[in-house]
Amino acid sequence: MSKLVIVGTVAFDAIETPFGKTDKILGGAATYIGLAASHFNIDAAAVSVVGGDFPQAYLDLLSNKNIDVSGVEIVKEGKTFFWSGRYHNDMNSRDTLATELNTLADFNPVVPENYKDAEVVMLGNLHPIVQSSVLDQMTTKPKLVILDTMNFWMDCALDDLLNVIKRIDVITINDEEARQLTGEYSLVVAAKKIHEMGPKYVVIKKGEHGALLFHNENVFYAPALPLKEVFDPTGAGDTFAGGFAGYIAKTNDTSFENMKNAVIYGSTLASFCVEKFGTERMQNLSNEEVHKRLLQFKQLTQFDIELT
Ligand code: AMP
Repeated sequence: MSKLVIVGTVAFDAIETPFGKTDKILGGAATYIGLAASHFNIDAAAVSVVGGDFPQAYLDLLSNKNIDVSGVEIVKEGKTFFWSGRYHNDMNSRDTLATELNTLADFNPVVPENYKDAEVVMLGNLHPIVQSSVLDQMTTKPKLVILDTMNFWMDCALDDLLNVIKRIDVITINDEEARQLTGEYSLVVAAKKIHEMGPKYVVIKKGEHGALLFHNENVFYAPALPLKEVFDPTGAGDTFAGGFAGYIAKTNDTSFENMKNAVIYGSTLASFCVEKFGTERMQNLSNEEVHKRLLQFKQLTQFDIELT
């Protein structure tokens, strides 16, 4: 079993979907990643920043899930990162209404001393310079570095993003962002171009249409579980990444074959995330529920065909 470092935003989100609207609720990439990774019974620590306005109860929520929050800096006089988004009727696309960096604007991350030798590093969505700085602090080379990002950083910090992408092993990115990053419509060509930027493994998330894992000429595809109800897709990508990273840390195996299972775990956890607003579903998700859905996933994708 490996240690996992999680970097990303811990945030307030305000979300609008065709089913309703929330005020400021708990959100952030590191929050969703942590909640997903907590299902693997591993040593995991979050590195992030919040303001004095952030309720201690939210940090306790992560600690109670066994996520070490000693690396989450609290800037008493500052305000927490705030993001607001509105989903379109198809629930697959959204508009960002506000991104207020607040304390994130001059955040210097500090990796807890006992996590500087972590085998797996999950660089969740936040400024690419912060992501790089976390890698600089690792005293031993991690076995696997996974990075997630979004269009916001491509728009405002592309060079920094390209610099950190050179240093990682796996990128998880959604289809629209892969196209933006490469200027290619075909996801196969986009994945090839991203390989050339650095990462040996490219995971392209396609929302309700599943996820693709590319490694050289190998491709693996996992569908998303067809769900009766989707209330709020916020955090599904981060939850996927947390499931992926958590599974790799738990199994300590970075082979392509094992990454396929990591994709399945990520997809399974993400399928829960979208069932309620914000982090609500992930807060109370049991390992039994996850196990049951993994079995459903297996049934959905398994077939026996005789080929002559
Ligand atoms: P996802 O739906 O997986 O893309 O992640 C949504 C989460 O990402 C929300 O909880 C937001 O707080 C967070 N988020 C939104 N924009 C950014 C950004 N520019 N940098 C870091 N985190 C962000």
